[in-house]
Amino acid sequence: MSTSRPNDRKHHTAANADLGTSTRAVHGYPEQASDLVPDLVPPVWNSAAFAFPGQEEIADAFQGRSPRPVYSRIANPTVTQLERRVAFLTGGTAALASASGMGALTTVLMTLAEAGDEIVVSRRIFGGTIHLLDEVLPRFGVRSVFVDAEDPAAVAEAAGEQTALILVESISNPALTVPDFARLGELSQEKGIPLVVDATVTPPPLFDPGAWGAALAVYSTTKYLAGSGTVVGGVSVDTGAFDWRRITRGPVAEHAQRIDPRFAFAAAARNAVHIHTGGCMDAHTAFLTLLGLETVELRLSRQCESALTLARDLRENEHVTHVGYPGLEDHPSYPAAARFFQGGSGAIVTFCLDSAERCYRAARNLRIARNVVNLGDSRTLVVHPWSTIYHDHTDRVRRDAGVYPEMLRVSVGIENAADIVGDFRQALEAAHDSTG
Ligand SMILES: *Cc1c(COP(=O)(O)O)cnc(C)c1O
Repeated sequence: MSTSRPNDRKHHTAANADLGTSTRAVHGYPEQASDLVPDLVPPVWNSAAFAFPGQEEIADAFQGRSPRPVYSRIANPTVTQLERRVAFLTGGTAALASASGMGALTTVLMTLAEAGDEIVVSRRIFGGTIHLLDEVLPRFGVRSVFVDAEDPAAVAEAAGEQTALILVESISNPALTVPDFARLGELSQEKGIPLVVDATVTPPPLFDPGAWGAALAVYSTTKYLAGSGTVVGGVSVDTGAFDWRRITRGPVAEHAQRIDPRFAFAAAARNAVHIHTGGCMDAHTAFLTLLGLETVELRLSRQCESALTLARDLRENEHVTHVGYPGLEDHPSYPAAARFFQGGSGAIVTFCLDSAERCYRAARNLRIARNVVNLGDSRTLVVHPWSTIYHDHTDRVRRDAGVYPEMLRVSVGIENAADIVGDFRQALEAAHDSTG
C-alpha cells in the first residue's frame, strides 16, 4: 500500500460514498420503517429482553439464522442503530458499542491478545489505558512494551512474533504528540500485526485511521461523539483496512476461517468476548450518543478553530511559560497533524505556568471554563492532570506521558471564542494578582 496517500478503501455502501460527515451523521443508513415503528428519530428500546411467537424463533435468533434481538446484553435495537450509524459515519465495515471507552478498548484487547502475547503501545497514552495494560492484563499473561510511538523504528524493533497488536492514540493526551500513521500503517501491513488507534480526540471528519492502514479505531463516545458530556460510552470500529486472515490464532483466526473474513474481527469481538464479559452499552446511552453524533462535525470545526485561537493567545501571555497545541507551527507534531488531520488539529490545548500552585489559582479564577476531569464536552473544561488523572502514576510515567506539575489541560468547548480567550486572560491575571 502507498505510504504517501490514503488507500482507496471503499465504503461498504458504495451509493453513499460521497456523502459528507454531517449528512451521514444525521441520516444514517436508509432504515426500513414498519407500520408500528415510524422512522426518523430512533426510539429508545428500554427492554432487557424481547418476545417471540414461539421457541423455534428464539432458537433461530440464538443460532444466527435470524437477526432479531433476544436479550439486551447481546444486542439492543437502539444500540445496534448507534453501531450502524458509527460504522457508516467512519466508513468502517462494522462497529461494536461498549459501556465506556475503556470497555471498548478492553474488548478489542481481549479479542486480539492471549496469555503469552505482547502489546506494543505508545508511552504517551491515556492514564486509564496505562493502568489496564500495566496492572490488569499482566495478571492474565499479557505483557505490554511501552515505546516512543513517534519513532516508527522503535515500534518496528519492539514488534515481533508475540506481538498481538500495536496501540497508539491519534493525538496523545496530554502530551499532544501525533505519530506517523503512514509508517505505522505500513509496518502493521508488512508484519501482519493489527494497528489499533484510539481516535477519541479526533472523531470524523478530522481523521480516518483506516485510510493509513490502521485495522481498528476506538472511540470513547463519552467525549466528542456524544458531545454534551451526558453519558459514558465507547465504540470500536473495524476500518476494513486489515486482512483478518493474517491472524493465525485465537477467536479472530477461527472466525476468519468460518465466515466472510471482512467481518471476522467484529464477529469474534462480539461473539467470543463482548457478550460474555458484560460491557454492553444501554439503550438510553445509545440514544443520547446518536443525538450527539448529529452535530459532531459542527462542534468540532468550531472547537478546533477556537483551540487554535486560544493557543495563539496563550502564547502571547506573559504569564504562560509553554503552550502545547499541534496546530501551532513550532509544535514538534505540527507536520504530522497537518498531514493526517482534516479541518483542524483537535481541540485540546495545554499550557504551563510557573508552578502547580499558580495553576490551581488560575483554575479557581475561571468564570466560564469549568474544573472538570473530562474532555470533548460542549463546555470548555480544565484539569490539572498531574494531581488528578495521573495522581497514582510514578513521576517517570507521568513525565513520559508528557504530564508536568505546572501544566493545565484545556478541552475547548463550543462557547464563543472571544469569551473563552477572555476568560483565560482574566483568570491568569487574577492568579498573578497578589490579592487574587
Ligand atoms: C476518556 C478516554 C478514554 C476512556 O474512555 P471512557 O469512556 O472514560 O472509559 C480512552 N482514551 C482516551 C483518549 C480518552 O480520552
